[in-house]
Amino acid sequence: MKKDDCIFCRIANGEIPSKTLYEDSEFRVILDLGPAAKGHALILPKEHAENLYDLPEGTAAAAMVLAQRMARIMQKKLQCDGLNLVQNNGEAAGQTVHHFHLHLIPRYIDDGQSINWKPGKPTQEELEAIRKLIAE
Ligand code: 5GP
Ligand code: ZN
Repeated sequence: MKKDDCIFCRIANGEIPSKTLYEDSEFRVILDLGPAAKGHALILPKEHAENLYDLPEGTAAAAMVLAQRMARIMQKKLQCDGLNLVQNNGEAAGQTVHHFHLHLIPRYIDDGQSINWKPGKPTQEELEAIRKLIAE
């Protein structure tokens, strides 16, 4: 389903123009308007899903296959030195547009960007408690 008030639904379905890199019946890949680095692209499913939790399994699988295909093209054409795949779910995780999207961020030596976190120092007991909480 498409959501009329969702900007990425409208872009993905061609109602709002975008710098499109690729399109098929299920996805549109566009350049991000506020790129972290040259060539920063977004994979948008044409069907609305707010986030990863809501995304149909088949779309999730196809998005990763497409990400691999785009990453290979971008590596070749942009001659980037690396590439980050980023996908945010929920405001706490930095999601600002609530239509699932996958960021493809080409990286260049000395591009001045960082996609980082401060590593914690959990004890073995704390790790085990988390493992149990998630896995059991
Ligand atoms: P999020 O923070 O939700 O993971 O990422 C949203 C991304 O969408 C941001 O990188 C932002 O620059 C980009 N963005 C927001 N609105 C538009 C738009 O109208 N067109 C394009 N091409 N990118 C957008
Ligand atoms: Zn949408």
